[in-house]
Amino acid sequence: MNKIQLTIDGVEVTGTQGQTILEIARDNGFDIPTLCYHPSISKTGACRLCIVRVNGNMIKASCTEPAAEGAKIITEDAEIAGLRKGILEMLLAEGDHNCLYCEENGNCELQALCYRYGAENPAADFPKNKRQIDVTSSKGLRRNENRCVLCGRCVKACAEIQVQNVWQFDGRGSHACLTSDMFEKLGDSSCVQCGQCVQICPTGALSFQTVLGRGPEWELKKESSICIYCGVGCKIDFYTNKQGQLVKAIGNPDGPNKGHLCVKGRFGFDFVQGDKRITSPLIKRNGKFEEASWDEALDYVSKRFSEIKQASGPDSIMAFSSAKCTNEENYLMQKFMRAVVGTNNVDHCARL
Ligand code: SF4
Ligand code: SF4
Ligand code: SF4
Repeated sequence: MNKIQLTIDGVEVTGTQGQTILEIARDNGFDIPTLCYHPSISKTGACRLCIVRVNGNMIKASCTEPAAEGAKIITEDAEIAGLRKGILEMLLAEGDHNCLYCEENGNCELQALCYRYGAENPAADFPKNKRQIDVTSSKGLRRNENRCVLCGRCVKACAEIQVQNVWQFDGRGSHACLTSDMFEKLGDSSCVQCGQCVQICPTGALSFQTVLGRGPEWELKKESSICIYCGVGCKIDFYTNKQGQLVKAIGNPDGPNKGHLCVKGRFGFDFVQGDKRITSPLIKRNGKFEEASWDEALDYVSKRFSEIKQASGPDSIMAFSSAKCTNEENYLMQKFMRAVVGTNNVDHCARL
């Protein structure tokens, strides 16, 4: 690959021929704002927030403009900041934004950019387009199109990553809108609830049902983990609120699926805090399960294993383990059965 040299804000940087100005700028730590651009989908060039000055007199959208050898790029000056503010104000005027009541308050790229450029809604007193609000039809997703900036990220995430093609644009100009399966309610559409469109949406137009009433974004704590449901092993960032409740699961881009999750990884965490979850060992006495301590339960298992082995031999015992355990726990289970009990009777739910 041919290397190219250019300057960004007066700093000499190196990129690869074919890369866009935005890609080289971000690789070198420069902060250019975007709404429609996202590294996991193809380039759209719709929102124009990523405009930069090229060689003094041209203003170009950096997300689609290929970088050229010797180019001189200015990422922001007074004129560009003013244009960005104007774009944001048009987006605010087009929709109906009240961050105070928005599920994504504190987790919204549009909100963050409005703070950064001091953008205010110039049409706050005018009636708004009435667009679709659908917060009940889908078990996993909520939708408020009044907060949509028509960036197209969800359309591309669904088409290019999940390959489900649920979202489309309809209409032109001020009548342009987003639809799921041509005006079906989300819950009646072909959506498979992978949640990728919500994860990638830069505003509160799409959100998860699980965040509702669980506390503000800035109180959430992030812990990274690995999905327990299949061998792909997607990396997941789980968010918990002040009460320790799990609130949402976000795919981590460093995982094998590059940030994408299926419905199980995305929403299958409610069992952790389910009220039917067994949290202490149970021993059956007189036909009824009774709670026991771990010491009591392990002593009982050890005594019964010895008795059964003595009476009927080691092959009368088997162990079945779970994909919800770690590799190390599964290894220990089979080692225990082979080396201590003396049988090869081991199996695992993921084999079936
Ligand atoms: S989408 Fe963003 S800017 Fe709009 S109301 Fe919600 S938090 Fe505010
Ligand atoms: S949740 Fe997944 S399948 Fe459903 S619309 Fe969003 S990206 Fe498409
Ligand atoms: S719903 Fe979100 S991702 Fe989709 S077009 Fe609107 S703002 Fe963009």
